[in-house]
Amino acid sequence: MSNTALGNHILVEFMNCDPHVMNDVAAIERDMVGAARKAEATVINSTFHHFSPYGVSGVVVIQESHLAIHTWPEYGYAAVDVFTCGDMNAWIAFDHLKECFGAKSYSAIEMKRGSVNLLTRNDFDITTAREKAAEWRNPDFYTRNVWFTDKDEDQALSLRFTGDVFFDVQSPFQRVRILESTKYGKMLALDDMVMTTIKDEFHYHEMIAHPSLFTLQNAKNVLVIGGGDGGTVREVLRHSNIEKVTMVEIDGEVIKACKEHLPQIAAAFNDPRLELIVDDGIAFVKNAPDAVYDLLIVDGSDPVGPAEGLFSVDFYQNCYRTLKADGILVAQGESPKFNEKAFAELNQTLQGIFGSNNAPVGLFFVPTYPTGMWSFQYGLKGAADPRKINNTETIKAFVAEKGLRYYNEDIHFSTFALPNFVKQLI
Ligand code: SAM
Repeated sequence: MSNTALGNHILVEFMNCDPHVMNDVAAIERDMVGAARKAEATVINSTFHHFSPYGVSGVVVIQESHLAIHTWPEYGYAAVDVFTCGDMNAWIAFDHLKECFGAKSYSAIEMKRGSVNLLTRNDFDITTAREKAAEWRNPDFYTRNVWFTDKDEDQALSLRFTGDVFFDVQSPFQRVRILESTKYGKMLALDDMVMTTIKDEFHYHEMIAHPSLFTLQNAKNVLVIGGGDGGTVREVLRHSNIEKVTMVEIDGEVIKACKEHLPQIAAAFNDPRLELIVDDGIAFVKNAPDAVYDLLIVDGSDPVGPAEGLFSVDFYQNCYRTLKADGILVAQGESPKFNEKAFAELNQTLQGIFGSNNAPVGLFFVPTYPTGMWSFQYGLKGAADPRKINNTETIKAFVAEKGLRYYNEDIHFSTFALPNFVKQLI
Protein backbone atom coordinates (compact mmCIF):
# COMPACT_ATOMS: atom_id res chain seq x y z
CA MET A 1 0.00 0.00 0.00
CA SER A 2 1.53 3.38 -0.97
CA ASN A 3 2.35 5.69 1.87
CA THR A 4 0.19 8.44 0.40
CA ALA A 5 -3.16 6.81 1.08
CA LEU A 6 -4.58 4.61 3.85
CA GLY A 7 -6.60 2.43 1.58
CA ASN A 8 -7.22 1.28 -1.92
CA HIS A 9 -10.72 0.92 -3.29
CA ILE A 10 -11.78 -0.98 -6.36
CA LEU A 11 -15.35 -0.36 -7.54
CA VAL A 12 -16.55 -3.02 -9.93
CA GLU A 13 -19.54 -3.41 -12.23
CA PHE A 14 -20.00 -7.08 -13.11
CA MET A 15 -22.45 -7.39 -15.98
CA ASN A 16 -24.14 -10.19 -17.95
CA CYS A 17 -23.65 -12.56 -15.08
CA ASP A 18 -25.66 -15.75 -14.57
CA PRO A 19 -28.95 -14.54 -12.96
CA HIS A 20 -29.22 -17.72 -10.88
CA VAL A 21 -25.79 -17.20 -9.40
CA MET A 22 -26.76 -13.56 -8.76
CA ASN A 23 -29.66 -14.84 -6.67
CA ASP A 24 -27.81 -17.56 -4.77
CA VAL A 25 -26.95 -16.18 -1.31
CA ALA A 26 -24.97 -19.29 -0.26
CA ALA A 27 -22.95 -19.39 -3.51
CA ILE A 28 -22.27 -15.64 -3.38
CA GLU A 29 -21.18 -15.82 0.26
CA ARG A 30 -18.92 -18.77 -0.57
CA ASP A 31 -17.38 -16.95 -3.58
CA MET A 32 -16.90 -13.64 -1.79
CA VAL A 33 -15.15 -15.35 1.15
CA GLY A 34 -13.21 -17.43 -1.39
CA ALA A 35 -12.10 -14.26 -3.20
CA ALA A 36 -10.83 -12.74 0.05
CA ARG A 37 -8.96 -15.91 0.89
CA LYS A 38 -7.52 -16.20 -2.60
CA ALA A 39 -6.09 -12.70 -2.16
CA GLU A 40 -4.68 -13.94 1.16
CA ALA A 41 -6.82 -11.65 3.26
CA THR A 42 -7.73 -12.61 6.85
CA VAL A 43 -11.49 -13.08 7.03
CA ILE A 44 -13.08 -11.80 10.28
CA ASN A 45 -16.77 -12.44 9.52
CA SER A 46 -19.40 -12.30 6.80
CA THR A 47 -23.00 -11.15 6.67
CA PHE A 48 -25.18 -12.01 3.68
CA HIS A 49 -28.88 -11.47 3.12
CA HIS A 50 -31.17 -12.90 0.46
CA PHE A 51 -34.05 -10.63 -0.47
CA SER A 52 -37.26 -12.16 -1.69
CA PRO A 53 -38.16 -12.47 -4.54
CA TYR A 54 -34.56 -11.90 -5.58
CA GLY A 55 -31.36 -10.06 -4.90
CA VAL A 56 -28.50 -10.53 -2.48
CA SER A 57 -26.49 -8.09 -0.38
CA GLY A 58 -23.51 -8.98 1.73
CA VAL A 59 -20.18 -7.99 3.18
CA VAL A 60 -17.09 -9.91 4.14
CA VAL A 61 -15.16 -8.12 6.85
CA ILE A 62 -11.45 -8.78 6.53
CA GLN A 63 -8.53 -7.60 8.60
CA GLU A 64 -7.52 -5.66 5.50
CA SER A 65 -11.04 -3.91 5.38
CA HIS A 66 -13.89 -5.44 3.33
CA LEU A 67 -15.45 -6.89 0.24
CA ALA A 68 -19.09 -5.95 -0.39
CA ILE A 69 -21.71 -6.88 -2.98
CA HIS A 70 -25.25 -6.03 -4.06
CA THR A 71 -26.86 -8.03 -6.86
CA TRP A 72 -29.74 -7.44 -9.31
CA PRO A 73 -30.33 -10.95 -10.74
CA GLU A 74 -32.99 -9.57 -13.08
CA TYR A 75 -30.19 -7.61 -14.80
CA GLY A 76 -27.48 -10.18 -14.32
CA TYR A 77 -25.63 -7.40 -12.52
CA ALA A 78 -23.52 -7.15 -9.40
CA ALA A 79 -22.05 -4.04 -7.82
CA VAL A 80 -18.93 -5.10 -5.94
CA ASP A 81 -16.36 -3.13 -4.05
CA VAL A 82 -13.10 -4.30 -2.58
CA PHE A 83 -11.55 -1.98 -0.05
CA THR A 84 -8.08 -2.91 1.14
CA CYS A 85 -5.35 -1.56 3.26
CA GLY A 86 -2.08 -3.38 3.77
CA ASP A 87 -0.40 -5.54 1.15
CA MET A 88 -3.36 -7.47 -0.16
CA ASN A 89 -3.73 -7.49 -3.98
CA ALA A 90 -7.44 -6.76 -4.46
CA TRP A 91 -7.26 -7.57 -8.17
CA ILE A 92 -6.78 -11.24 -7.30
CA ALA A 93 -10.18 -11.11 -5.59
CA PHE A 94 -11.60 -9.29 -8.62
CA ASP A 95 -10.40 -12.05 -10.99
CA HIS A 96 -11.82 -14.77 -8.74
CA LEU A 97 -15.27 -13.14 -8.62
CA LYS A 98 -15.34 -12.42 -12.35
CA GLU A 99 -14.89 -16.12 -12.94
CA CYS A 100 -17.34 -17.27 -10.25
CA PHE A 101 -20.08 -14.94 -11.45
CA GLY A 102 -19.50 -15.74 -15.11
CA ALA A 103 -19.41 -11.99 -15.84
CA LYS A 104 -19.32 -11.59 -19.62
CA SER A 105 -18.53 -7.88 -19.25
CA TYR A 106 -17.38 -5.57 -16.49
CA SER A 107 -15.92 -2.21 -15.65
CA ALA A 108 -13.74 -1.30 -12.71
CA ILE A 109 -12.15 1.78 -11.27
CA GLU A 110 -9.46 1.95 -8.62
CA MET A 111 -9.09 4.84 -6.25
CA LYS A 112 -6.98 5.73 -3.28
CA ARG A 113 -8.87 6.33 -0.04
CA GLY A 114 -7.77 8.33 2.96
CA SER A 115 -5.10 10.51 1.45
CA VAL A 116 -2.66 11.10 4.31
CA ASN A 117 -2.05 14.62 3.02
CA LEU A 118 -5.60 15.44 4.08
CA LEU A 119 -5.51 13.64 7.44
CA THR A 120 -4.01 14.47 10.84
CA ARG A 121 -2.69 11.49 12.81
CA ASN A 122 -3.84 11.12 16.42
CA ASP A 123 -1.54 9.84 19.13
CA PHE A 124 -2.20 6.07 19.19
CA ASP A 125 -0.73 3.13 21.25
CA ILE A 126 0.35 0.76 18.53
CA THR A 127 1.52 -2.12 20.77
CA THR A 128 -1.91 -3.04 22.16
CA ALA A 129 -3.34 -2.64 18.65
CA ARG A 130 -0.81 -5.12 17.27
CA GLU A 131 -1.50 -7.63 20.09
CA LYS A 132 -5.18 -7.39 19.38
CA ALA A 133 -4.62 -7.74 15.61
CA ALA A 134 -2.66 -10.95 16.20
CA GLU A 135 -5.79 -12.49 17.76
CA TRP A 136 -7.62 -12.22 14.46
CA ARG A 137 -5.23 -14.57 12.74
CA ASN A 138 -7.00 -17.45 14.50
CA PRO A 139 -9.69 -18.84 12.08
CA ASP A 140 -11.95 -19.72 15.01
CA PHE A 141 -12.69 -16.03 15.21
CA TYR A 142 -14.29 -16.40 11.83
CA THR A 143 -18.10 -16.34 12.24
CA ARG A 144 -20.58 -16.76 9.35
CA ASN A 145 -23.77 -14.76 9.40
CA VAL A 146 -25.90 -16.04 6.53
CA TRP A 147 -29.65 -15.59 6.60
CA PHE A 148 -32.49 -17.39 4.79
CA THR A 149 -35.64 -15.30 4.42
CA ASP A 150 -39.17 -16.51 3.69
CA LYS A 151 -41.34 -13.48 3.14
CA ASP A 152 -44.23 -11.92 1.30
CA GLU A 153 -44.40 -8.22 0.42
CA ASP A 154 -45.19 -7.14 3.99
CA GLN A 155 -43.63 -9.56 6.46
CA ALA A 156 -40.83 -12.09 6.68
CA LEU A 157 -39.31 -14.86 8.68
CA SER A 158 -35.51 -15.05 8.65
CA LEU A 159 -33.53 -18.00 9.87
CA ARG A 160 -29.81 -17.85 10.37
CA PHE A 161 -28.17 -20.74 8.65
CA THR A 162 -24.66 -22.08 8.67
CA GLY A 163 -24.22 -21.37 4.96
CA ASP A 164 -23.72 -25.09 4.30
CA VAL A 165 -25.89 -26.45 1.49
CA PHE A 166 -26.43 -30.24 1.64
CA PHE A 167 -28.74 -30.53 -1.34
CA ASP A 168 -29.54 -28.02 -4.06
CA VAL A 169 -31.42 -29.18 -7.17
CA GLN A 170 -33.63 -27.20 -9.55
CA SER A 171 -36.32 -29.80 -10.30
CA PRO A 172 -38.90 -29.38 -13.09
CA PHE A 173 -41.26 -28.02 -10.40
CA GLN A 174 -39.16 -26.04 -7.91
CA ARG A 175 -35.77 -25.48 -6.34
CA VAL A 176 -35.21 -28.15 -3.70
CA ARG A 177 -32.66 -27.36 -1.00
CA ILE A 178 -31.52 -28.84 2.27
CA LEU A 179 -29.87 -26.20 4.42
CA GLU A 180 -28.86 -26.13 8.08
CA SER A 181 -30.31 -23.44 10.32
CA THR A 182 -28.38 -22.63 13.47
CA LYS A 183 -31.49 -22.78 15.70
CA TYR A 184 -33.78 -25.38 14.07
CA GLY A 185 -31.22 -27.74 12.53
CA LYS A 186 -31.43 -29.09 9.02
CA MET A 187 -34.35 -27.85 6.94
CA LEU A 188 -36.10 -28.42 3.63
CA ALA A 189 -36.67 -25.28 1.55
CA LEU A 190 -38.69 -25.28 -1.67
CA ASP A 191 -37.90 -22.21 -3.75
CA ASP A 192 -37.58 -19.66 -0.94
CA MET A 193 -40.12 -21.17 1.42
CA VAL A 194 -39.35 -23.10 4.59
CA MET A 195 -41.14 -26.47 4.36
CA THR A 196 -39.92 -28.31 7.44
CA THR A 197 -37.10 -28.28 9.96
CA ILE A 198 -35.73 -31.02 12.20
CA LYS A 199 -36.48 -29.10 15.41
CA ASP A 200 -40.13 -28.10 14.84
CA GLU A 201 -41.50 -30.50 12.20
CA PHE A 202 -43.42 -32.45 14.89
CA HIS A 203 -45.73 -29.47 15.43
CA TYR A 204 -46.98 -29.81 11.88
CA HIS A 205 -46.85 -33.55 11.32
CA GLU A 206 -48.51 -34.59 14.57
CA MET A 207 -51.34 -32.08 14.02
CA ILE A 208 -51.97 -33.03 10.37
CA ALA A 209 -52.50 -36.70 11.24
CA HIS A 210 -53.71 -37.49 14.74
CA PRO A 211 -56.85 -35.35 15.27
CA SER A 212 -58.65 -36.99 12.32
CA LEU A 213 -57.28 -40.50 13.00
CA PHE A 214 -58.63 -40.38 16.57
CA THR A 215 -61.92 -39.14 15.18
CA LEU A 216 -62.25 -41.99 12.68
CA GLN A 217 -60.79 -44.43 15.25
CA ASN A 218 -60.61 -47.33 12.77
CA ALA A 219 -59.41 -45.81 9.52
CA LYS A 220 -57.90 -48.33 7.12
CA ASN A 221 -57.19 -46.60 3.81
CA VAL A 222 -55.46 -43.21 3.68
CA LEU A 223 -54.43 -40.99 0.75
CA VAL A 224 -51.70 -38.36 1.22
CA ILE A 225 -51.19 -35.75 -1.50
CA GLY A 226 -47.75 -34.12 -1.32
CA GLY A 227 -45.89 -34.63 1.94
CA GLY A 228 -42.60 -35.41 0.15
CA ASP A 229 -40.57 -35.01 3.37
CA GLY A 230 -42.30 -38.10 4.76
CA GLY A 231 -43.34 -36.61 8.12
CA THR A 232 -47.07 -36.99 7.51
CA VAL A 233 -46.97 -40.67 6.51
CA ARG A 234 -44.62 -41.33 9.48
CA GLU A 235 -47.33 -40.09 11.86
CA VAL A 236 -50.22 -41.82 10.03
CA LEU A 237 -48.37 -45.15 10.07
CA ARG A 238 -47.97 -44.95 13.86
CA HIS A 239 -51.62 -46.13 13.97
CA SER A 240 -51.78 -49.94 13.87
CA ASN A 241 -55.34 -49.94 12.42
CA ILE A 242 -54.03 -48.42 9.18
CA GLU A 243 -53.83 -51.03 6.38
CA LYS A 244 -52.83 -48.89 3.40
CA VAL A 245 -51.36 -45.43 2.84
CA THR A 246 -51.02 -44.12 -0.71
CA MET A 247 -48.72 -41.09 -0.97
CA VAL A 248 -48.67 -39.08 -4.21
CA GLU A 249 -45.81 -36.57 -4.33
CA ILE A 250 -45.16 -34.65 -7.54
CA ASP A 251 -41.43 -34.09 -7.04
CA GLY A 252 -39.10 -37.07 -6.64
CA GLU A 253 -36.23 -34.73 -5.77
CA VAL A 254 -37.99 -33.78 -2.52
CA ILE A 255 -38.26 -37.43 -1.48
CA LYS A 256 -34.60 -38.03 -2.43
CA ALA A 257 -33.36 -34.97 -0.52
CA CYS A 258 -35.30 -35.87 2.62
CA LYS A 259 -34.41 -39.56 2.60
CA GLU A 260 -30.74 -38.59 2.42
CA HIS A 261 -30.61 -35.55 4.72
CA LEU A 262 -33.71 -35.65 6.95
CA PRO A 263 -33.95 -39.37 7.83
CA GLN A 264 -35.74 -38.66 11.14
CA ILE A 265 -38.62 -37.15 9.13
CA ALA A 266 -38.44 -39.53 6.15
CA ALA A 267 -38.48 -42.47 8.60
CA ALA A 268 -41.43 -44.51 7.29
CA PHE A 269 -40.74 -44.72 3.57
CA ASN A 270 -39.95 -48.43 3.89
CA ASP A 271 -43.15 -49.32 5.73
CA PRO A 272 -44.84 -52.16 3.75
CA ARG A 273 -48.25 -50.48 4.14
CA LEU A 274 -47.01 -47.46 2.15
CA GLU A 275 -47.42 -47.09 -1.63
CA LEU A 276 -45.26 -44.16 -2.76
CA ILE A 277 -46.21 -42.64 -6.13
CA VAL A 278 -44.32 -39.80 -7.82
CA ASP A 279 -47.07 -38.03 -9.75
CA ASP A 280 -49.31 -34.97 -9.79
CA GLY A 281 -51.81 -35.35 -6.95
CA ILE A 282 -54.42 -33.31 -8.80
CA ALA A 283 -54.48 -35.79 -11.70
CA PHE A 284 -54.32 -38.74 -9.27
CA VAL A 285 -57.41 -37.63 -7.35
CA LYS A 286 -59.24 -36.83 -10.59
CA ASN A 287 -58.76 -40.43 -11.72
CA ALA A 288 -59.32 -42.02 -8.31
CA PRO A 289 -62.40 -44.25 -7.80
CA ASP A 290 -65.41 -43.09 -5.73
CA ALA A 291 -65.65 -43.61 -1.96
CA VAL A 292 -62.42 -45.49 -1.26
CA TYR A 293 -60.54 -43.41 1.34
CA ASP A 294 -61.28 -43.04 5.04
CA LEU A 295 -58.88 -40.11 5.31
CA LEU A 296 -57.46 -37.82 2.62
CA ILE A 297 -54.59 -35.56 3.69
CA VAL A 298 -53.43 -32.70 1.46
CA ASP A 299 -49.91 -31.90 2.68
CA GLY A 300 -49.09 -29.48 -0.08
CA SER A 301 -46.88 -26.40 -0.25
CA ASP A 302 -48.14 -22.81 -0.67
CA PRO A 303 -50.55 -21.97 -3.53
CA VAL A 304 -47.83 -21.26 -6.08
CA GLY A 305 -46.18 -23.41 -8.76
CA PRO A 306 -47.14 -27.11 -8.65
CA ALA A 307 -49.33 -26.62 -5.56
CA GLU A 308 -51.58 -23.91 -6.99
CA GLY A 309 -54.15 -26.47 -8.13
CA LEU A 310 -54.24 -27.96 -4.63
CA PHE A 311 -56.40 -24.97 -3.65
CA SER A 312 -58.95 -25.33 -6.50
CA VAL A 313 -62.66 -26.20 -6.29
CA ASP A 314 -62.24 -28.99 -8.89
CA PHE A 315 -59.56 -30.67 -6.82
CA TYR A 316 -61.66 -30.64 -3.65
CA GLN A 317 -64.78 -31.85 -5.45
CA ASN A 318 -62.74 -34.88 -6.54
CA CYS A 319 -61.43 -35.28 -2.99
CA TYR A 320 -65.03 -35.30 -1.71
CA ARG A 321 -66.00 -37.91 -4.34
CA THR A 322 -63.17 -40.28 -3.47
CA LEU A 323 -63.83 -40.18 0.31
CA LYS A 324 -65.96 -42.90 1.95
CA ALA A 325 -69.38 -41.80 3.34
CA ASP A 326 -67.91 -41.02 6.78
CA GLY A 327 -64.54 -39.84 5.42
CA ILE A 328 -62.50 -36.84 6.51
CA LEU A 329 -60.33 -34.49 4.47
CA VAL A 330 -57.49 -32.52 6.10
CA ALA A 331 -55.63 -29.85 4.11
CA GLN A 332 -52.59 -27.65 4.78
CA GLY A 333 -54.67 -24.49 5.22
CA GLU A 334 -52.18 -21.60 5.14
CA SER A 335 -52.23 -18.91 7.84
CA PRO A 336 -54.98 -16.42 8.84
CA LYS A 337 -52.11 -14.01 9.54
CA PHE A 338 -49.79 -14.54 6.57
CA ASN A 339 -51.85 -15.20 3.42
CA GLU A 340 -55.32 -14.43 4.67
CA LYS A 341 -56.84 -14.52 1.18
CA ALA A 342 -55.74 -18.10 0.41
CA PHE A 343 -56.79 -19.15 3.95
CA ALA A 344 -60.29 -17.66 3.67
CA GLU A 345 -60.87 -18.78 0.07
CA LEU A 346 -59.92 -22.37 0.89
CA ASN A 347 -62.46 -22.47 3.70
CA GLN A 348 -65.17 -21.05 1.43
CA THR A 349 -64.36 -23.81 -1.06
CA LEU A 350 -64.59 -26.53 1.62
CA GLN A 351 -67.82 -25.10 3.07
CA GLY A 352 -69.25 -25.04 -0.47
CA ILE A 353 -68.44 -28.74 -1.01
CA PHE A 354 -68.78 -30.31 2.48
CA GLY A 355 -71.36 -27.94 3.99
CA SER A 356 -70.99 -24.75 6.05
CA ASN A 357 -70.81 -26.64 9.39
CA ASN A 358 -68.55 -29.36 8.04
CA ALA A 359 -65.42 -27.35 7.27
CA PRO A 360 -63.79 -26.68 10.67
CA VAL A 361 -60.40 -24.98 10.98
CA GLY A 362 -57.69 -26.13 13.37
CA LEU A 363 -54.99 -23.65 14.37
CA PHE A 364 -51.53 -24.61 15.62
CA PHE A 365 -48.08 -23.08 15.87
CA VAL A 366 -44.99 -23.65 13.72
CA PRO A 367 -42.13 -21.31 14.75
CA THR A 368 -40.40 -21.54 11.35
CA TYR A 369 -43.41 -20.52 9.27
CA PRO A 370 -43.99 -16.76 8.78
CA THR A 371 -46.09 -15.47 11.73
CA GLY A 372 -45.83 -18.91 13.41
CA MET A 373 -49.66 -19.26 13.30
CA TRP A 374 -50.77 -21.93 10.82
CA SER A 375 -53.86 -23.98 10.06
CA PHE A 376 -55.27 -27.28 8.90
CA GLN A 377 -58.66 -27.08 7.27
CA TYR A 378 -61.09 -30.01 7.42
CA GLY A 379 -63.84 -31.37 5.21
CA LEU A 380 -66.22 -33.73 7.05
CA LYS A 381 -68.22 -35.88 4.59
CA GLY A 382 -70.28 -37.73 7.21
CA ALA A 383 -70.94 -37.67 10.97
CA ALA A 384 -67.32 -38.18 12.03
CA ASP A 385 -66.34 -34.82 13.57
CA PRO A 386 -63.07 -34.18 15.44
CA ARG A 387 -64.85 -31.60 17.64
CA LYS A 388 -67.15 -34.32 18.97
CA ILE A 389 -65.05 -37.23 20.18
CA ASN A 390 -65.02 -38.98 23.56
CA ASN A 391 -61.97 -41.26 23.39
CA THR A 392 -59.55 -38.97 25.23
CA GLU A 393 -58.21 -41.84 27.34
CA THR A 394 -57.19 -43.65 24.14
CA ILE A 395 -55.42 -40.48 22.99
CA LYS A 396 -53.63 -40.12 26.35
CA ALA A 397 -52.33 -43.69 26.18
CA PHE A 398 -51.22 -43.31 22.54
CA VAL A 399 -49.44 -40.02 23.24
CA ALA A 400 -47.57 -41.59 26.16
CA GLU A 401 -46.70 -44.77 24.26
CA LYS A 402 -45.47 -42.94 21.11
CA GLY A 403 -43.83 -40.05 22.99
CA LEU A 404 -45.66 -37.38 20.99
CA ARG A 405 -44.39 -33.86 21.66
CA TYR A 406 -47.20 -31.58 20.39
CA TYR A 407 -50.51 -33.39 20.07
CA ASN A 408 -52.50 -34.49 23.14
CA GLU A 409 -56.12 -34.83 24.33
CA ASP A 410 -56.35 -31.10 25.22
CA ILE A 411 -54.72 -29.80 22.04
CA HIS A 412 -57.11 -32.05 20.12
CA PHE A 413 -59.98 -29.76 21.15
CA SER A 414 -58.19 -26.43 21.62
CA THR A 415 -57.00 -26.45 18.02
CA PHE A 416 -60.62 -25.82 16.96
CA ALA A 417 -61.11 -22.95 19.42
CA LEU A 418 -60.70 -19.96 17.10
CA PRO A 419 -60.04 -16.31 17.94
CA ASN A 420 -62.81 -13.93 16.82
CA PHE A 421 -60.80 -12.41 13.97
CA VAL A 422 -60.38 -15.89 12.46
CA LYS A 423 -64.10 -16.67 12.86
CA GLN A 424 -64.81 -13.43 10.99
CA LEU A 425 -62.38 -14.39 8.21
CA ILE A 426 -64.33 -17.60 7.48
N1 SAM B 1 -45.37 -28.35 5.39
C1 SAM B 1 -45.26 -27.79 4.14
C2 SAM B 1 -46.08 -26.54 4.03
O1 SAM B 1 -46.86 -26.25 4.93
O2 SAM B 1 -45.90 -25.78 3.11
C3 SAM B 1 -45.58 -28.79 3.08
C4 SAM B 1 -44.56 -29.79 3.05
S1 SAM B 1 -44.55 -30.90 1.78
C5 SAM B 1 -42.87 -30.92 1.51
C6 SAM B 1 -45.23 -30.17 0.34
C7 SAM B 1 -45.07 -31.04 -0.85
O3 SAM B 1 -46.17 -30.89 -1.77
C8 SAM B 1 -43.83 -30.74 -1.67
O4 SAM B 1 -42.94 -31.82 -1.61
C9 SAM B 1 -44.33 -30.51 -3.09
O5 SAM B 1 -43.48 -31.02 -4.07
C10 SAM B 1 -45.67 -31.26 -3.04
N2 SAM B 1 -46.60 -30.86 -4.06
C11 SAM B 1 -46.85 -29.62 -4.52
N3 SAM B 1 -47.76 -29.66 -5.50
C12 SAM B 1 -48.12 -30.96 -5.65
C13 SAM B 1 -49.03 -31.66 -6.50
N4 SAM B 1 -49.75 -30.99 -7.42
N5 SAM B 1 -49.14 -33.00 -6.39
C14 SAM B 1 -48.40 -33.68 -5.46
N6 SAM B 1 -47.50 -33.07 -4.63
C15 SAM B 1 -47.38 -31.74 -4.73
